[in-house]
Amino acid sequence: MPVARPTHVDIDLGALRHNFRLVRHQAGAERQVLAVVKADAYGHGARDVARALAKEGVDLFGVALLEEAKELRAAGIRAPILILGGIYPGQEAGFFAPDLIPCIFDLASARRLDAAARAAGRVIGCHIKIDTGMGRVGFFNGELDDLLPELSKLTHLRVDGIMSHLAVADEPEHPFTAEQIARFRQAVAKVRAFGHRPRYLHIANSAGLFAHDLPECNLVRPGIVLYGALPSNHFAGRLDLRPVMHWRTSIALLKTLPSGSGISYGHRFVTARPTLVATLPVGYADGYNRRLTNRGEVLVRGRRVPVAGTVCMDWTMIDVTEVPGVQVGDEVTLLGEADGQWIRAEEWAEKIGTIPYEVFCQVSKRVPRVIK
Ligand code: PLP
Repeated sequence: MPVARPTHVDIDLGALRHNFRLVRHQAGAERQVLAVVKADAYGHGARDVARALAKEGVDLFGVALLEEAKELRAAGIRAPILILGGIYPGQEAGFFAPDLIPCIFDLASARRLDAAARAAGRVIGCHIKIDTGMGRVGFFNGELDDLLPELSKLTHLRVDGIMSHLAVADEPEHPFTAEQIARFRQAVAKVRAFGHRPRYLHIANSAGLFAHDLPECNLVRPGIVLYGALPSNHFAGRLDLRPVMHWRTSIALLKTLPSGSGISYGHRFVTARPTLVATLPVGYADGYNRRLTNRGEVLVRGRRVPVAGTVCMDWTMIDVTEVPGVQVGDEVTLLGEADGQWIRAEEWAEKIGTIPYEVFCQVSKRVPRVIK
């Protein structure tokens, strides 16, 4: 067995299960839960995440791509899968597999899907997406009067759900979410008035789940909270979430640099004292963001220590002068928990000007995921 570089991500499925149970409770008995596992379960590994959630009894899964749905099926996932992205020309027959549910948000793809379904003698259940103010994909309420008669001609598509997506729900005080919900209600009424009997109505992502009362909706679509991060700091303290991803590496080299030495490209860090520098076998090619240069912190032997100098493609240096007994081979935690201390995705995100979603998704395929 070749020994690999000691850089990996631990995936804590116990934490995932814990978060799912909190979500289930929060959603209430009258709502089903669709777990969003697109983008390889936000970088956590869709196969293992989906298998664990399936065992917990999740009702549906959500992915962005038909290819991602196929990956889940290959992993033995049998639950219905909603495909949130598009139906691209040539993909139509891919949607005929059992319980793969397309989202319809433009008439051209709906017509193509219907024609393919008719040719195959199939009827495909789909969810209609309404653009209540995200400005991304979906039909505007104003389009429905013209659209619904056209949809009715598509005899091999059945409307099983109506959905929309919230744009500002991560700011709980923002008045626009109430406006989106009002528009959604109007859209649902119009679709129903046309004789459709959708089984599912849904609009809530993680933030919507916690911030808004959605009496008509019987399905929620959380993603980020399952992975243990909040959609925004506005929800701090609302739920006892546990981060699922813990990114570890270990010290490859130790060297003492005299005062006045530059470290890494551009010498952006210059030692102000004799400095014990540890080199870590991880870099921006792994998703350790280059903007953590001189800003990131990691955990070594129960202490937080700073990144020293520019993060390289495959290497990152840290200042371990203050870590007693530090040795080559010591475990280093870049993200997650060690010895009761945490480096949270929210902290990184704030430092580099992004959101926890991107922190997770950036961890590259080069970093093995190890299931705990
Ligand atoms: N629904 C849709 C359509 C999405 O695009 C996403 C994520 O981007 C989600 C639900 C889940 O959102 P969150 O991770 O904020 O819960």
